[in-house]
Amino acid sequence: MRQPLVAGNWKMNGSKAFVAELLMGIKASSGGIQATELAVCAPFPYLYLLEELLAGTPIRYGAQDVAFENDGAFTGQVSVKMLKDFGCHYVIIGHSERRQFNAETDAMIARKYAQAIANELTPILCVGESLTERQQGQTEAIVARHLDAVIELNGVDALAKGVIAYEPVWAIGTGLTATPEQAQEVHAFLRTRIAAHSQPVASQVRILYGGSMKSNNALELIMQPDIDGGLIGGASLKADEFLAICQAGD
Ligand code: PGA
Repeated sequence: MRQPLVAGNWKMNGSKAFVAELLMGIKASSGGIQATELAVCAPFPYLYLLEELLAGTPIRYGAQDVAFENDGAFTGQVSVKMLKDFGCHYVIIGHSERRQFNAETDAMIARKYAQAIANELTPILCVGESLTERQQGQTEAIVARHLDAVIELNGVDALAKGVIAYEPVWAIGTGLTATPEQAQEVHAFLRTRIAAHSQPVASQVRILYGGSMKSNNALELIMQPDIDGGLIGGASLKADEFLAICQAGD
């Protein structure tokens, strides 16, 4: 069975004081969560605080992006090794905001995935279509392209070392959640596509849903057979809301 995972994506939010308070809130109330794995993905400058404040807890943490090279002349970039140095377990790769605002291509994302797994950092690979793409009936073609780029460079077994997040771009930060049926349909499509390469990898890999997931819709989404948890943006910035979503995963 796949262990549910609920991961917070804080995006470009926070301050030292905010991070400390949020983590205190999460730590104080996360004790009752049994089956679900919890994680938070923070902006780079706050990773040291996560290392300090989450020490000795089962809550895992990570970053929201990483370089596709390990060291050298890459001004402004942060490597997988650096993330490991701060105790990161996860890194979000290929988020639609990075595809959009940082011109990340499928090829770059596949290389980031390769760096992460080579150094035992667990990538959370984001895939998802825009509203126009959905309206044009291209949802499956787009998520297939996002997925295939990673399989082509890394091989299908590499997927078992990561997590996939289906995040329809039109649902991110908009309050428009995909219906459980819409999300399940794409999750099942992704799993079937992976199964064409390897049935064991397809049954093992966790596929999270992301896009306006909140405490009031998390349960019906997570109950779908191919939805193994959530990647939570806005709702992960409030401890009680985030924990309520984690409880839905339990
Ligand atoms: P949202 O963001 O929950 O605020 O829609 C999800 C994400 O972008 O990962």
